[in-house]
Amino acid sequence: HPVDPQAGAAVKAADRAHVFHSWSAQGLIDPLAVAGAEGSYFWDYEGKRYLDFTSGLVYTNIGYQHPKVVAAIQEQAGKLSTFAPAFAVEPRSEAARLIAERTPGDLDKIFFTNGGAEAIENAIRMARLHTSRPKVLSAYRSYHGGTTTAINVTGDPRRWASDNGTSGVVHFWAPFLYRSPFYSATEAEEAQRALQHLEDTIAFEGPGTIAAIVLETIPGTAGIMVPPPGYLQGVREICDRYGIVFILDEVMAGFGRTGKWFASEHFDVVPDLLTFAKGVNSGYVPLGGVAISAEIAATFETRAYPGGLTYSGHPLACAAAVATIQVMEDEKIVEHAARIGETVLGPGLRELAERHPSVGEVRGTGVFWALDLVKDRATHEPLVPYNASGEANAPMAAFAAECKAQGLWPFVNMNRTHTVPPCNVSEAEAKEGLAILDSALTVADRYTVE
Ligand code: PLP
Repeated sequence: HPVDPQAGAAVKAADRAHVFHSWSAQGLIDPLAVAGAEGSYFWDYEGKRYLDFTSGLVYTNIGYQHPKVVAAIQEQAGKLSTFAPAFAVEPRSEAARLIAERTPGDLDKIFFTNGGAEAIENAIRMARLHTSRPKVLSAYRSYHGGTTTAINVTGDPRRWASDNGTSGVVHFWAPFLYRSPFYSATEAEEAQRALQHLEDTIAFEGPGTIAAIVLETIPGTAGIMVPPPGYLQGVREICDRYGIVFILDEVMAGFGRTGKWFASEHFDVVPDLLTFAKGVNSGYVPLGGVAISAEIAATFETRAYPGGLTYSGHPLACAAAVATIQVMEDEKIVEHAARIGETVLGPGLRELAERHPSVGEVRGTGVFWALDLVKDRATHEPLVPYNASGEANAPMAAFAAECKAQGLWPFVNMNRTHTVPPCNVSEAEAKEGLAILDSALTVADRYTVE
C-alpha cells in the first residue's frame, strides 16, 4: 500500500481541528488516520496493516470493500440515488422482501431506519402504542444505542448522563452464570432464577403498566453472554401471559454473526419486534430497521403510525442490503461463520485460556466471542474494575497496545476483549489473530495473582 505520511498528517490535522468524536473527551483522543481497507484488513498512511478483529463496530460482516456490494451501490447511484420514503421503489421493496424472508416467524413487515438506535426508538414507540402502556423493562449489561430512548434502555455507564429518571425504563438482571447476579451454580439454575427475578420485577412494577421487554438476543458490547437454555423461551412465555411486547435487539447479533441469520434461531424463539442494523448491509451505507409481527402490524393497518424518517429505506442503503444478502447466500457466509467458530475460533480461544491465567472465561458462538479477563481465576475478579479509566485501566490499555503493535486491532470493553472479525474471515486470518492474542495475553498475565 502506498506510504504517504504527509497525507495522513493532513487527514489527522483536519480531524483534530474539526471532527467531534463519539463518547470521547475530545482533547484526550488520538484517532489513527486510515488510508484504506479490504476484506479483514485496514492500513494507515505509514504502510502499517492491521487485522481487524472488531469488524469496525461489529458491523462489517462481509469485510471491507466487497466488490459486488460496492458495484451494486455504484449501479444504484447511477440509476436512482435517492427517493422519498412514501413511494414504492425497487431496492427498498427488494430489501424488505429479502429481510422478511429471513426474519423468524411472522415478522414480515419492515420499517427502515438509518441505524440501530432509531430501530430501538421506533420498536419501543410501536410497543407503547400497541399496548397503550408506558413502561419498558430492559437488562443491566446491555447496549441499545445513543439516542434518548435507546440510551435509557441501555444498561451500561453511557446511560448515566442521559438518564433523568423520567424515561419509564426499569432495569433488571439477565442471566450471566460466570458473574451470576443470582449466585447460581448451573445454567439451569441461572435460567430459572433469572426468570423468577423477571416475574418478581413485573409483579412489583405492575404488569398492566409494562409495554415491552427489550433484550439483546445475545448481549454484545456488554460481554457476549449466551443465554442459558430455556431463558428466552421463558421470557416469551412471560410476555404472552401479561400481554407485554417482546422486543429482541439483533443489531449486533443478527445477519450471520452468531452463525445463523438471526441469533433467535439458536433459541427457537420468535419476538414480536426484532431490531436490526449493522450486518444487514455490512454498514456500507447506513441502514437499520424493525421487523414487525402480523399482530403489531395490524394495529397500524387503519391507524397511522406516528413516526418516520426522511431517509427511511434509502435506495443506496437498500441496494447495499440486497447485494449483501445475495453475497452472503452465494458465498455461504453464514455457514462459514458457524464453522469457523466451531473449528478454529472456539477451540483456539479455549486453548489460549488454558495457558493464560488472565483468561477467566471464553464464551460465544460463530464470530462472536468474548474473553473475560481476570486478575484471579479463583474469584473471577475482573482484570480492571467496572468502568475503570486512566491508571486503573492500565492492564487493558497495555494489552490493547500490544495487540496493535503486533498488527491486530482488538475490540476492548471494560475487562474484556471480543474476537469479532468479519463473518467471512479466513482460517489463516483467524489463526494469525489468535497467534497475536496469544502473545498479547502475556502482557495481561503480568497483572494476575497467579
Ligand atoms: N443495539 C445493539 C445491540 C448494538 O450493539 C448497537 C450498536 O452497537 C445499537 C443497538 C445501536 O446501533 P447504532 O449505533 O447503529 O445506532
